[in-house]
Amino acid sequence: MTPFTYERATDPAAAAKAVAERPDAAFIAGGTNLVDLMKLGVARPAHLVDVSRLALSEIEETPEGGLAIGAQVKNSDLAADPRVRTSYPLLSRALLAGASGQLRNAASTGGNLLQRTRCPYFTNVATPCNKREPGSGCSALGGHNRMHAVLAATDTCIATHPSDMAVAMSALDATVETVTGAGERRSIPIAELYRSPETDPLRETTLAHGELITGVRLPPPPRGRQVYRKVRDRASYAFALVSVAAVVEERGGEVGSSRVALGGVAHKPWRSASAEAALAGARSDREAFAEAADAALQGARGYGHNDFKIDLAKRTIRRTLADAAGDVA
Ligand code: SF4
Repeated sequence: MTPFTYERATDPAAAAKAVAERPDAAFIAGGTNLVDLMKLGVARPAHLVDVSRLALSEIEETPEGGLAIGAQVKNSDLAADPRVRTSYPLLSRALLAGASGQLRNAASTGGNLLQRTRCPYFTNVATPCNKREPGSGCSALGGHNRMHAVLAATDTCIATHPSDMAVAMSALDATVETVTGAGERRSIPIAELYRSPETDPLRETTLAHGELITGVRLPPPPRGRQVYRKVRDRASYAFALVSVAAVVEERGGEVGSSRVALGGVAHKPWRSASAEAALAGARSDREAFAEAADAALQGARGYGHNDFKIDLAKRTIRRTLADAAGDVA
């Protein structure tokens, strides 16, 4: 591991300033991802600013009827919060589907959003990887790409985003609150947090260097029933092959409103406007759910080992929408 210096931040603005001032500095909170990457030589920060003890560990109700979640709320605490379990069960289930109990006890809300891809070539410094070394090539394109993206992938990088929580946050229209190194506060809709790998796969988000996530705001819960379904290779402690977050509001046999977000299929949590458009005003039945699934995967492209994901994603969307619509057959 590369030697590094360490400081513990006392407030969010000071933490942001400390990282912004040094190009080789990074935040650390739970460290469940960063420490692994440092041991592997993938991440080599020369200075760490510890934000884990900042006063950002509260979950509060907002005047609008939503929730304000501090960035340092642990994943296990967020999943267990009665307000989350009651009003945002999608989020609670997504959190509990991620990682292991020990990791959820350490991982923070802000860190979960920013975790890096688990592409095996990204973590193997002996192989070319555009995300690790821009311009070196993408080993996954002609390599073992079973876990990789089928939607909006580019020949620059076909990695997937690993977070379950972020898929749920995407379906719930969360807003990410930040403070920059200059002390400015920003509110970023989660749809605008993640960027395409096309031009610069090294940069996964629209955050500036030193911009610290201070919290996440959830609007009032959406109308309808919420379901999160994750398909993976084993029952726990595995990343999603495909996951689906769905909310369906049924009105007299028709879909009144819907939300559909996918995990494990794209470089970011994938909110499917196509699926939602296909469901708008449709009968709440399996035929409509199949059409929505087809719409969601339109234009999908496999790279060999991951071709199966396209059909798997369609089937998972159909089943999850049926569950959300109350069809338990
Ligand atoms: Fe690197 Fe992305 Fe290719 Fe994986 S998919 S090897 S992270 S460039």
